[in-house]
Amino acid sequence: MNARNEAAEGGVELVPGLVEALDGAGRYGLMGSRCPDCGAWAFPALERCPRCQGRQAPTRVGTAGSLYTYTVVRTRAPFGLPEPYAVGYVDLDESGLRVFGLIDPAATDGLEVGQRMEIGLRSIGVDRHGRPCLRPLFQPAARGKRHD
Ligand SMILES: [Zn+2]
Repeated sequence: MNARNEAAEGGVELVPGLVEALDGAGRYGLMGSRCPDCGAWAFPALERCPRCQGRQAPTRVGTAGSLYTYTVVRTRAPFGLPEPYAVGYVDLDESGLRVFGLIDPAATDGLEVGQRMEIGLRSIGVDRHGRPCLRPLFQPAARGKRHD
């Protein structure tokens, strides 16, 4: 698995600004927002804080977390996604947010609730205009291994 090369294959970002590269070595962070006044986190990013109505500030909400739950979808996949594909919720370490998203199709068969996951970015499927696109996803954590 080499996320760097797959991302380098190109494609447009499905949602610009949703993911940031951390170190150019295939590690990514998910972008949301946080309230500087009361500390409430949000994903996706919000302008106004749902708790205190103050202004939220864009920030990274997570790079890794634990798989809370998942499901494998075996019906016809939309947007050129592989079949089957998995989606799930991950509890992010940094913010505590529970975030829904696509799971790395290569990991579909070996998923376990509670396993460590990290944010990835891949060229998978197409956008609504049929163009190849870069999608954020959750992938099993490398457990200290380096992708060199
Ligand atoms: Zn607030």
